[in-house]
Amino acid sequence: MPTHTLTPITPKRRYRKGKNKILPSRVAILVVCLLAILALVWFAVSQIMGLFSEKKHKYTKGSAPWTIGLDAGHGGSDPGAQGIVSEVDMTEQTVQKLMEILQKDERFHVVLCREFGETVEKPSMRAIEGNKQGADLLLSIHGNSDTTGEGYGFECYPLPPGRELSEESLEFATYLAQSFEEMGARLRGTEGIRYAYYEGENEDVKVIREGSDQQVYDSQTFGFLEYAEVPAVLAEQCFITNQQDVDLFGQGEGIERAAKAYYHAICAFFEVEPLE
Ligand SMILES: [Zn+2]
Repeated sequence: MPTHTLTPITPKRRYRKGKNKILPSRVAILVVCLLAILALVWFAVSQIMGLFSEKKHKYTKGSAPWTIGLDAGHGGSDPGAQGIVSEVDMTEQTVQKLMEILQKDERFHVVLCREFGETVEKPSMRAIEGNKQGADLLLSIHGNSDTTGEGYGFECYPLPPGRELSEESLEFATYLAQSFEEMGARLRGTEGIRYAYYEGENEDVKVIREGSDQQVYDSQTFGFLEYAEVPAVLAEQCFITNQQDVDLFGQGEGIERAAKAYYHAICAFFEVEPLE
């Protein structure tokens, strides 16, 4: 019986020996597994960050030809506001005219964020379409309205402060406001520039802040601007409920005047002289 007490030593030692021998390869396998897991996690995280982060590339104006992404606000089953003219009629006619002007200028290409007559549910989808088609600049055209018919003037909304492309968007907005003023528009807010935010518990209360308010807010702005990967501005061309505004920019010659104002601002943004 006492000899029994000694017998376990040998197997134990043998076992230890064996364990020591295979230890390096086990560690190696473990390290390889860990590295593989780390690589997978890194890949997954980078993919997720890529999907949700702001654009990673640094935007530059580059050189001609530039691709201009035009969005005629509303469309299809959504006619927008109704006034002396229908908002969608005005936005589509203006985009049509602006497209014709830009197509005569070989420094520009035009892509549309939606087809004429097409219904697009979310404004963000229009910006995504513009991005996909390689736009260097995105412009969404809308018409303002009110119940009194007294509201008037031009205003536009760049991407708000604190975003990667805020400065470039504001630069384009500034040219737009100047260009419309030169064509006779009365500018609303701070020289025609304002910021829109969705606030409140459900982020459904639209709050308009003046262009002079350069504070950075957490709130989202228009979906069209949020999803733009290039400088982007949403313009309220005129009040479709005000006769003087409609005469200036809302129908007939007014559409041509508005299109030319947009064209001049686009040229100014890309630092070239307009052809007309
Ligand atoms: Zn609208």
